[in-house]
Amino acid sequence: MANPTGWKPSMEKESGSGGTAGDVGAGGATRGLAYEEPLVFEHAASERVGASLPAVTGKVDPAKEIPAALLRGEIEGMPSLAELDVVRHFTRLSTWNHGIDTGFYPLGSCTMKYNPKSSEAAARLPGFAAAHPLLPDEMCQGSLELMFKLERALSEISGFAATTISPAAGAHGELTGVMMIRAYHLARGNARKKVLIPDTAHGTNPATAALNGYRTVEVKSGPDGRLHPEAVKAAMDEEVAAIMITNPNTLGVFESDIAAIAEIVHAKGGLVYGDGANLNALLGVARPGDMGFDVMQFNLHKTFATPHGGGGPGSGPVAVKASLVPFLPLPLVVQEGPAYRLVTDPKERPQSIGRLREFHGNMGMFVRAWALIRELGPEGLRRCAELAVLNANYVRARLRDVYHLPYETDSLHEVVFTDKLQKGADISTMDVAKRLIDHGFHPPTVYFPLVVSGALMIEPTETEAKETLDAFVAGMRAIAEQARSDPDGLHAAPQKPVRARLDEVRAARKPVLRWTPGMKVE
Ligand SMILES: *Cc1c(COP(=O)(O)O)cnc(C)c1O
Repeated sequence: MANPTGWKPSMEKESGSGGTAGDVGAGGATRGLAYEEPLVFEHAASERVGASLPAVTGKVDPAKEIPAALLRGEIEGMPSLAELDVVRHFTRLSTWNHGIDTGFYPLGSCTMKYNPKSSEAAARLPGFAAAHPLLPDEMCQGSLELMFKLERALSEISGFAATTISPAAGAHGELTGVMMIRAYHLARGNARKKVLIPDTAHGTNPATAALNGYRTVEVKSGPDGRLHPEAVKAAMDEEVAAIMITNPNTLGVFESDIAAIAEIVHAKGGLVYGDGANLNALLGVARPGDMGFDVMQFNLHKTFATPHGGGGPGSGPVAVKASLVPFLPLPLVVQEGPAYRLVTDPKERPQSIGRLREFHGNMGMFVRAWALIRELGPEGLRRCAELAVLNANYVRARLRDVYHLPYETDSLHEVVFTDKLQKGADISTMDVAKRLIDHGFHPPTVYFPLVVSGALMIEPTETEAKETLDAFVAGMRAIAEQARSDPDGLHAAPQKPVRARLDEVRAARKPVLRWTPGMKVE
């Protein structure tokens, strides 16, 4: 097939080439110096040690002074390694990782974008990074001021009255939001029984409702991928505490009837919860608070400059309308004259849902987010949304003739394809995803959202350049071509990584997470 960009798939290159200028995001995957690396326990045990401490000569023998119960015994088979062995071991392992600093990472819904290193530098300032969370207010006024200003900025960006920054992640923010919804209804005498959830929702939405004791009721989206007011109306009654909506939804489609839907829910006394994980699509352009949402969580690790992945740390601030302000969790930062104070005493906020966690949130993430918001300003934030939407639509336009697009409705910041056109050749979404690794790209999100069979969900993000998108498109097109010409080759992908296709079922069902003495690792 004609290659419109002249980009060469990485496997056509000679092995050992280190990649050349122009191989943006791909092709640099030389294997010449990618070492096979055994477990550190499998390194031949030697008499080397990683420290040189002076021999114990004084009167005090630490081994006798420390209570026996606190002394560690010998570990059978424990390798004995020099510092250099250990440093090389972990450094080599680190080269097996793919991260946003290594290449393109188009996971849909997750928003894996490049985050500026200036935010990292700010987060590491010792005044913030080394402040103990139990410092008295007067000794951490700078941190409190930053927390206060971040809460105000997030409220303004999203169109809400107030924001709590305590929650530790998006899902924790959802939990917080629905706890407040429950407290709000309880204060009116009836917690209600049900929460409405569209069929495109992220799994954390129904999980959140269930954790709060609500029964979830699924609302089907229409053939255009959108939620229709009639479907909400049919499911809505006075037992419904809330509807949880992601906008744009997880198909990347804007819920254009959101105002009408909010009106239907409000008319029966329900509240509208917004899953704000897709805020990247709206930043500086539209405000969820203006669309009828009563409460919404942010994912600072998706939208506001915290590297995402590897399990944390996250931050899921929650913004609320005035009706929910009394229920906000503690602690809260308030401004009193020129000073800032942390409200921790429930007596000051009798209707608060209470404390969510031991401390006040992940400070480093607050600093990163605040630094980004200040750096970009309103115009820069708007530009983020515009470029995120442009990039997703560029990928959509350049792939739609070779991959099936399940919804014709316009996409915002992410686009969902399927494997329907490849099914005839017995090629699945999993094969496409695995082959992308050989082309030097992290696969997109696969098999989500669940309403789309064989979904491939691509979110390029606003931080990627056109050259990277072109290289990705070329890789995806080469795979579509290979599905026709060499399907078996696709089934055997990936070929290039140190580990090829893993047995994912076994990995999920029988994970081996810990080394034990004498264990044989295959
Ligand atoms: C990521 C995501 C969540 C959950 O956020 P975490 O920070 O991973 O807990 C919820 N909803 C949607 C739509 C998401 O993409």
